[in-house]
Amino acid sequence: MIAATAAALADGTWSRLKACRDDTCRWAFYDHSRSRTGQWCSMEICGNRNKQARWRQRKDEVT
Ligand SMILES: [Zn+2]
Repeated sequence: MIAATAAALADGTWSRLKACRDDTCRWAFYDHSRSRTGQWCSMEICGNRNKQARWRQRKDEVT
């Protein structure tokens, strides 16, 4: 584990290792996006869920 962590630090992999931003999920995941802006362990599951939640929230603020 320590060796893997050191290797990850050395080749920059570490910065791509993230925790899912979904509060109910918090899965550790590897950010495959080139821009390193990934926020969810799965765009299909957590990404969509949070996108919809945000959209609903914004709609509530407008009305
Ligand atoms: Zn997630």
